[in-house]
Amino acid sequence: TPPPASNFLRTIIDSDLAQGRYAGKRWAGKPGPADVHADAPADTARIRTRFPPEPNGYLHIGHAKSICLNFGLAQDYGGACHLRFDDTNPEKEEDEYVRAIIEMVRWLGFDWRFNGEDNCYFASDYFDFMYGFAEALVQAGHAYVDEQSPEEMRASRGTLTEKGVNSSWRSRPAEESLLRLREMRDGKHPDGSMALRARIDMGSPNINLRDPVLYRIRHTPHHRTGSTWCIYPMYAWAHPVEDALEGITHSICTLEFEDQRPFYDWILERLAELGQLARPLPHQHEFARLNLSYVVTSKRKLLQLVREGRVSGWDDPRMPTLAGLRRRGYTPSAIRLFCERLGVSKADSRIDYSILEQALRDDLDPVAPRAVAVLDPLKLVLTNYPEGQTELCHAPRNPHAPEAGSREFPLSRELWIERDDFREDPPKKYFRLFPGNTVRLKYGYIVRCTGFVKDDSGQVTEVHAEYLPDTKSGTPGADSVKVKGNITWVSAAHAVPAEVRLYDRLFNDAHPDGAGKDFLDALNPDSCHVRQGWLEPGTRAEPETVWQFERLGYFVADRELSTPEKPIINRAITLKDSWAH
Ligand code: ATP
Ligand code: MG
Ligand code: MG
Repeated sequence: TPPPASNFLRTIIDSDLAQGRYAGKRWAGKPGPADVHADAPADTARIRTRFPPEPNGYLHIGHAKSICLNFGLAQDYGGACHLRFDDTNPEKEEDEYVRAIIEMVRWLGFDWRFNGEDNCYFASDYFDFMYGFAEALVQAGHAYVDEQSPEEMRASRGTLTEKGVNSSWRSRPAEESLLRLREMRDGKHPDGSMALRARIDMGSPNINLRDPVLYRIRHTPHHRTGSTWCIYPMYAWAHPVEDALEGITHSICTLEFEDQRPFYDWILERLAELGQLARPLPHQHEFARLNLSYVVTSKRKLLQLVREGRVSGWDDPRMPTLAGLRRRGYTPSAIRLFCERLGVSKADSRIDYSILEQALRDDLDPVAPRAVAVLDPLKLVLTNYPEGQTELCHAPRNPHAPEAGSREFPLSRELWIERDDFREDPPKKYFRLFPGNTVRLKYGYIVRCTGFVKDDSGQVTEVHAEYLPDTKSGTPGADSVKVKGNITWVSAAHAVPAEVRLYDRLFNDAHPDGAGKDFLDALNPDSCHVRQGWLEPGTRAEPETVWQFERLGYFVADRELSTPEKPIINRAITLKDSWAH
């Protein structure tokens, strides 16, 4: 395998390592403040990264970019990547999401275990540390309890052009703030009545430095800590503290957090000065998030699609969640390939959905076993083929892998072909079946169309043809007659019936949540067509089996619903990009 392509993050890591920036880092094998790591051995991981999802929804394709980046860097540098549940917000977090996230990170092929460490952590396990840090900050004069209402705080924070205004509580004595902070913790005050704020600079041009809130009161039980706490740390300081407790070296996040970096550094510096956190401290680096066309990745919007029943669930095969992509037939290696092709940069851009689809084709083409299927069946009768007779036809399992050998399936008098492979009145350049024309039945004989039958409504119900006995594929006479069309078929008496779900994009607008739009207006009303089709005899639709159905695309047996007795098959992707113009 070629060495990983360089990017600005690798340049930073290379330079950090060359300068020995993290050489003195100690790590006790478990998260904790300075004293936990004080006597710990020097860290064996050269770098430590983390993937920090909030367990408030399922992972989506955007998260895959962050997972591949963080776990990928750790792998390449012989370091560790932590899986950390950033569960500091009690309102929307659930264990169901925790389980789903663990399953999907594993599915993508990554592992948070390193040298015997089980680096799966929960930010909520740090609530005691965080509270201790808050008291230390208050005692040192770096934080105060503000008793303004949330509205007053918001108003006095100012705007981009207008400086903030100091709260009258800002200069209260540390002992008074400490008392109030303890009362807040002990549940003596209602939600919103007061908050702990950092004392930085209400006149800073960076609004994030205008005395940001550290703790707010929320009398809401938490999915892991129950009702132990009624104050919860705000993300902006919880996150750097979590990174430092875990000995993270490179904290990689998306560009929206660039303006938060000065506060990230401020809070860690104060806590290190106070002897609470061990140096060297982690550093934050930002990269451009994945914006994918034809997709929404906001968890709030994905949740809305689920709650309103617009899709069958988080793992609906049309969802951009990893669970949905998996059910749709995406493989972990296709998603990793996609992320590799994306690269990493600091420039925001929008990636066309076709790039993701092409990664799936490129991943599956060399490995997917081939099969034939007929999804919109029309009967073809070979009128000169003896009734009751069958013979075997041979086809490669995968033309890219001759060593995989060949498969065989029967031909008989009555076949299923695609309705679209016959026309009573063919348009120009139509080379498939029409009265008088000859085509090859792929892997079988050349046949000449001799007629057709219609029902009362004018619908063609049966096509008739005669086969040319000397023209079977793989025999010396195969090329004796030249034809331009090659159609797929299955023997009607032998084929396996299957429900096949033809999915299309969930949205038919490239920017479903663009400015001024309601993303629900962009829902594609035609994003799923169900067909009763026929599969090559012998096909066993075990859940998650993938095939290329010749001429049709890549398909997967639905992992939830399919059984060999009653196959339910999803189209993952067509062979060619049907959206390209
Ligand atoms: P959402 O907006 O969907 O709620 P989020 O960023 O709030 O997403 P988190 O669970 O906090 O969701 O994300 C975990 C990690 O995944 C974060 O480090 C975040 O930067 C990263 N991430 C989320 N979305 C994307 C994306 N579209 N591209 C790259 N990384 C992403
Ligand atoms: Mg988030
Ligand atoms: Mg979010």
